[in-house]
Amino acid sequence: MALIISILAGTLSLPTTLYDLPVSNHGARVRLLLYKRGLESAVRVASPMELGGLRGEKYLSLNPQGKMPLLVDGDSCVWETDAICRHLLEKHAAEGDGPSLFPTSLAARTAAEVIVRHHDTYIGPIQGCLYKPAPPFGRFTSRRDALQELVKQLAVAEALADPTGPYLAGEEFSLADATLFPTMVFITHMLPKFEDAVASPAGEAGPRLGPRLSAWWSHTSNADEAAKRVADEIRSGLQPWEERGRWDAMLYAGARDVAPATLFDKILSKEIPSEVVFEDALCLAFRDINPVAPAHILIIPKHRDGLTGLGAATAEHSAILGHLMVAAAAIAKQEGLSEFRLVTNNGEGAGQSVFHLHLHLIGGRPLEWPPG
Ligand code: 5GP
Repeated sequence: MALIISILAGTLSLPTTLYDLPVSNHGARVRLLLYKRGLESAVRVASPMELGGLRGEKYLSLNPQGKMPLLVDGDSCVWETDAICRHLLEKHAAEGDGPSLFPTSLAARTAAEVIVRHHDTYIGPIQGCLYKPAPPFGRFTSRRDALQELVKQLAVAEALADPTGPYLAGEEFSLADATLFPTMVFITHMLPKFEDAVASPAGEAGPRLGPRLSAWWSHTSNADEAAKRVADEIRSGLQPWEERGRWDAMLYAGARDVAPATLFDKILSKEIPSEVVFEDALCLAFRDINPVAPAHILIIPKHRDGLTGLGAATAEHSAILGHLMVAAAAIAKQEGLSEFRLVTNNGEGAGQSVFHLHLHLIGGRPLEWPPG
């Protein structure tokens, strides 16, 4: 009663609250910091539903980004995870009994800072490719490209990690560990599901963590009580995702492109020669061997990714389909065609003979309508 009266009278500030859910790797960074520093009692952790959920008016009035986590500390609302961490570390610098999270030497502090920046700039924005149902994943519109970038950025993190450890910036647990560890719980759980999409062209197995990150991951997840606790919290949030089959329909996780290879694979590998008129990272365009008009060009995605024909398209394919259309317009211009037709046949009854999606770009003569 006294507490309620004090709050109503404005004589006692409300407890500092972190709005977060267990499955978020960002919120887990803050919780790991609190556990590690022994500051649990300083911050109440609550569900965003208390404020009507992330899209609720109340929540948005405190955090216009509508994202987790959000720290409400008196009149301050802080919603970038790294800023939340630094706010709490500074505010409670004299409390708690754990490590400060700022290593003693300047070299180690700077190394930790670089790893935090690396995570937040290059890994955090794209790690959604591991679990989000559809693109975009940061700046990537293809899951395969985002996964490959993630693997590349993990190799950079490997180079940034301290070679002797046991933590990322050396002997002391730092903000770098609190930052990368929760995301690594996601990565170690989910990246192996996509091994087909990130296997090297030579057919080697998918990427593994390098020796420094492996040693760090093994030490932190086995010997660090705070990290173990956070990993368990995240996994308890992932469990319902598994049970609901979150990855079942995701290409290269639960789903595979199991249709037989076509002659276009041999054209792509140059085993069958073709007259290429355009090529970029995503598509190849070549003249049809049996042209039905003076200009007859086939435009195909380099990775079929389940697109045996347009009928197999999903939201995952939006970007490549748009890319093929834009490429078609550029090729038409290159061929001097101001009038042309773009056709895709879907199914044998519609004239499809090769089951790797392709656009026919046809022009150079008057084209009748309706087509036969
Ligand atoms: P679809 O009938 O599946 O819509 O189109 C397949 C197209 O591939 C046909 O127009 C056919 O002429 C073309 N095609 C089939 N084999 C080859 C080949 O070996 N080289 C090239 N350049 N085109 C081919």
